[in-house]
Amino acid sequence: MQFEIIAKCSTTRARVSRMKLAHGITMLPTFMPVATQAALKGLTPQQTEELGLTLILNNTYHLNLRPGTKVLEAAGGAHRFQGWRRNLLTDSGGFQMVSLSSFTKVTEEGVLFASPFTGEPTMLTPEESISIQHSIGADIVMQLDDVVSSLTTGPRVEEAMWRSVRWLDRCIAAHEASGRTDKQNLFAIVQGGLNHELRDKCLEEMIKRKDRIPGYAIGGLSGGEEKDIFWRIIAQCTEKLPVDRPRYSMGIGFAEDLLVCVALGVDMADCVFPTRTARFGVALTFNGPLNLKLSRHAKNFDPIDPTCPCPTCSSGVSRAFLHHIVTHETAAAHAVTQHNVVFQARLMGRARDAILKDSFPQYLRTFFQDYFGDVGYPRWCVDALRSVGVDLLSGTEDVQMVEGDGAKWEYSEA
Ligand SMILES: [Zn+2]
Repeated sequence: MQFEIIAKCSTTRARVSRMKLAHGITMLPTFMPVATQAALKGLTPQQTEELGLTLILNNTYHLNLRPGTKVLEAAGGAHRFQGWRRNLLTDSGGFQMVSLSSFTKVTEEGVLFASPFTGEPTMLTPEESISIQHSIGADIVMQLDDVVSSLTTGPRVEEAMWRSVRWLDRCIAAHEASGRTDKQNLFAIVQGGLNHELRDKCLEEMIKRKDRIPGYAIGGLSGGEEKDIFWRIIAQCTEKLPVDRPRYSMGIGFAEDLLVCVALGVDMADCVFPTRTARFGVALTFNGPLNLKLSRHAKNFDPIDPTCPCPTCSSGVSRAFLHHIVTHETAAAHAVTQHNVVFQARLMGRARDAILKDSFPQYLRTFFQDYFGDVGYPRWCVDALRSVGVDLLSGTEDVQMVEGDGAKWEYSEA
């Protein structure tokens, strides 16, 4: 991997960088859509490529179950299997094992879980996770970590943090022994829950291994914790992680979360939210999400966003038509998914442009005004951005603040 920082915001910790992987260049910060089964739900790989995406995520757990490593190896890897020519990242498989299996037990050897086919106990070790990711052939592979919910407290959090460090060493050893380090890049995952001391210890240990680690992820968040704690953990990690390594915040997809994380120094994020919410009939826009199921769209013949270059908006597909077919017809899922994936790309592309022009604080103010001006700014966003020198409230009059996570799409148009 070649990683080069091109521009830095003079106020916040945001930066623009160029990440060159085996399947081309990806400009950061970027949002990675999730293609669980080697396909973005609702899009063909060709459509995905035509939308200009350069980096997507595949789930190791699912690909290992079906089609399995034998098929992937026979195909020459997941790129060829799915007809995807750009960059690919795979997770370790651990998260799905914990979240989807009815039986999971973590031992020092690995994660023991019930096979979804036979119910038999099946072990995933750090070495096996890396081996499966080698068969998939992703450009970025993730270490197996000991995943605990962000709401877990007590000694289990510390145990999982130290085990994640030990498993990182096993993953590094397995990866280096494979001779694939020139094509596939192993990222570490910082754990430590919501505890700042544990995060510091994990950061210290993982940064010691920097010479063998091309990038770092921040894990163990986005699990229902308070946003006020979430952003402080992100800020703590980005402050300490090496500047010359990409930083990936796992499981982040709401527009406001993405921009706050970028301001705090995050380069990459992924989430199923934009594609999932599209299938439920919600289109993302710079003025907030639109729930196309609502009857107020029944006679609206405008596109979702007339300024949007996506195939749905630029061909003039009306909100009324989408309202008519949404959640009933697969065509609606395609149309809204294309739009939402492009929205995420525009959100991050505008952030990159603003950082390059050193006008990122102004972009943040404009975004929050357009997106939250009518319903109030989430207080945690205001506080998080103040910590990096941006006051969203300066120069604006009568701005309301709202508590909680401020996920506007949940309550807008209710
Ligand atoms: Zn669009």
